[in-house]
Amino acid sequence: MTNKDLANLIFPNVTKTIEDYEKMYPKRNLKDDAIVTRAAPSPTGYTHMGTLFQAFISKKVAKDTNGVFFIRIEDTDRERLVEDAVDVITTDLKYFDITPDEGVISGNKEIGNYGPYTQSNRKEIYQTFMKYLVANNLAYPCFCTKEEKDEMTKAQERRKDRIGYYGRYAKCRKIPVNDAYQRIKNGEPFTLRLKSPGDFNKKIVINDLIKGKISFPENDMDIVIMKQDGLPTYHFAHLVDDHLMRTTHVIRGDEWVSSLPTHVQLFEVFGFRPPKYAHISPIMKEENGIKRKLSKRKDPEAQMSYYREKGIPVKAVELYLMTLANTNFEQWWDANKDKTIDDFKYDFKKTSKSGGLFDVEKLMNISKNYLSRIKATEFYDMLLNYAKEYDEEFYELIVKYKDFTIGLLNIEREQKKPRKDYASFSEVKELVWYMYDELFDKHEKTYEFKDVNDKEEILKLMNTYIEKYYDENDSQETWFNRIKDLSEEFGYAREVKEYKENPNKYKGHVGDVSMVIRVALTTKSMTPNLYDIMKLLGKDRIDRRIKELEKNF
Ligand code: GLU
Repeated sequence: MTNKDLANLIFPNVTKTIEDYEKMYPKRNLKDDAIVTRAAPSPTGYTHMGTLFQAFISKKVAKDTNGVFFIRIEDTDRERLVEDAVDVITTDLKYFDITPDEGVISGNKEIGNYGPYTQSNRKEIYQTFMKYLVANNLAYPCFCTKEEKDEMTKAQERRKDRIGYYGRYAKCRKIPVNDAYQRIKNGEPFTLRLKSPGDFNKKIVINDLIKGKISFPENDMDIVIMKQDGLPTYHFAHLVDDHLMRTTHVIRGDEWVSSLPTHVQLFEVFGFRPPKYAHISPIMKEENGIKRKLSKRKDPEAQMSYYREKGIPVKAVELYLMTLANTNFEQWWDANKDKTIDDFKYDFKKTSKSGGLFDVEKLMNISKNYLSRIKATEFYDMLLNYAKEYDEEFYELIVKYKDFTIGLLNIEREQKKPRKDYASFSEVKELVWYMYDELFDKHEKTYEFKDVNDKEEILKLMNTYIEKYYDENDSQETWFNRIKDLSEEFGYAREVKEYKENPNKYKGHVGDVSMVIRVALTTKSMTPNLYDIMKLLGKDRIDRRIKELEKNF
């Protein structure tokens, strides 16, 4: 019996060769510096911030270099599969604008010429590569049972040896081909192991694009490449897939760093060029001065639903992810306010080696900045989308009062330093309810009057104002002059300065009077520009508000 016979026995149905696949998936026709990369989630759970962050960076570098970004589903762990995970993951990524150029785009759809992109549909391809290894005496069947392996581990612990299947412990490496052949023929279960050519006493140095040069002992473990169910292990699938999909860069979580010597070795065994590697440190979180990994279970912001439900705009999340990804981004964005992420190039070297710190407050600030810089109509459309899903009452109001709402959102917007009221869509209603009669009527009202808080004085001021000084067609300047006239009539200084020079002469100043008007109409002591607010409210609503005030006093 030869190794070839053994290979034929194990893989009787494999008729293709590696060369056939090389031809089927030719080198991509791209510029030299184009990056081909991927997100390769396992559908053993749903999307979380780590998945999103990795996919975000991968898509970004592919886009920056006119390369390719694809999604591959790594579903060889059949026991831990979560039924709808592929649908959820692809939908989540799409929601955050991370659509792939190729690969899995939904639970039942793939696009692109380098597929299938779902590992469980690639069994024949993996087996072709495994068959080559067996036929060339580079891999062998292993019949060790779990009990035998446990025994071995115990012995290694006792002797203070390294744990694993290597050297003198690699029992099945020594089984003669004839015996192995017979045992397989007899139906004995087996896995396949790589015959590692590595020497633990030799070093290899790998240049990680984020972590820099890392030195490792060579891999000398005869790792499992095929499980008993005939499917590959992660290591082997990574080799086959990233080779045939012509991946140039593997960007992944740094839990894989320790597997690098194994992965590089696998590529070498086949004579393939390994991709470049960039290992991302996990996103961290600081709690009571202690740093820990952002946790799917403990931190709501690690879940995708958090962003949707709060209505944090996708673009703000992207800006925040970019801030986390590249330490120089924030400064760049500050200096280039009119530009977008697309104008910024991701730099592996500017990625935190120790893991970015997730800071919700900072995200909200970024979101505020972002929302203050977009057009009111754009804001309105996004708000509408949000409200449609999460707040029917508000949705109906902003549909009914579309121009009014856009006008409201536009207050102090188109200017050098725009107003920054809103960090998320879920906050909008709570900030502007007083503008809509329907909400005003039912809202619990606490009038936030300040220095002038005498009821009689307030009502007198308001009634005089409306009867004598208010005209809804006034320009802002005339409007303000008239408030000054009103102030004067009631014994308040026309200018703050005058008041400060002579405080005993006045009851207060024009600012106090404006405050009375503001609070009387809105209940709030802080609102966007009062002139604009009043323009939007218009005469009828303003009259109603004064009656409402009388009622509430
Ligand atoms: N399926 C692996 C994981 O979810 C992918 C790692 C990789 O990107 O190669 O961790």
